[in-house]
Amino acid sequence: LTGDAITQPGNYWVRVGTSVDALLAQVGVDDEQLHQVVVGGPMMGTPLKSLEASVTKTTNCLIAATKEELPPAPAEAPCIRCGACESVCPAQLLPQQLHWYARAENDAALEAHHLFDCIECGACSYVCPSAIPLVQDYRSSKQRIRHKRIETAKAEHAKHRFEFRQARLAREEAEKKARRQARLAQQQSASSDATGTQAAPMADLRSLRIAQTAAKAAVRKAEKVLARAAAQDPQQRHDDLETQLATAQENLKAAEARLADARAASEQKEAP
Ligand code: SF4
Ligand code: SF4
Repeated sequence: LTGDAITQPGNYWVRVGTSVDALLAQVGVDDEQLHQVVVGGPMMGTPLKSLEASVTKTTNCLIAATKEELPPAPAEAPCIRCGACESVCPAQLLPQQLHWYARAENDAALEAHHLFDCIECGACSYVCPSAIPLVQDYRSSKQRIRHKRIETAKAEHAKHRFEFRQARLAREEAEKKARRQARLAQQQSASSDATGTQAAPMADLRSLRIAQTAAKAAVRKAEKVLARAAAQDPQQRHDDLETQLATAQENLKAAEARLADARAASEQKEAP
């Protein structure tokens, strides 16, 4: 805990969840002098909007600053393309370009300019003569992109679950049909009177065999993708990839049932 507004600055053991307000009251704070409380360092820190915020596992420093210590930022002016930000960036990024893309919410360009390599050191904001809050822009852009990724992954997962359900229903239907066909073939062979029975239509065996081969290849591909992902990150769950593998397996079972059904119908037709 530091800052000119704190009467007893120092290192403290603090329980996670303690409110900043209660913590400052405990160590003593000069309310008249207090201008801003910052979590983190003076360059990389984030100003707190409310003192009711809690101490978290990542809270490493609290600065209770006076106005002289952390004066209010001057009004933001347009970027003059001076390049000062670029010359101080330790990650060798183009902060001014990132600034344009962040304001335009051009996420593809932000990623192409390696936004996620930014370590949020604050050097670019510090040297910017136009007082542009560059780091804040990058932080909110990163948050927006992460949120979008999560939403996209959720939508993909829902789509794969729907495809799995469709594949399961198709497989059940194909198996039902194959059983019906087998029963019919049994009845026909038992009956000596063939005139009352309608011969089953000749199915396109070739296209069904091709479909079965393609389904087998899809299962092998899904297995490989899952195995690769599991090898790369054994701790991570791969629910979505498992759903995709299960869908491919259902499709293969359905293709096999259809092929068996068609073979039975074909044999039945060829029987004397
Ligand atoms: S330091 Fe500020 S004004 Fe200069 S190029 Fe970077 S963003 Fe623009
Ligand atoms: S905050 Fe990011 S973009 Fe700015 S200087 Fe640091 S690493 Fe570079």
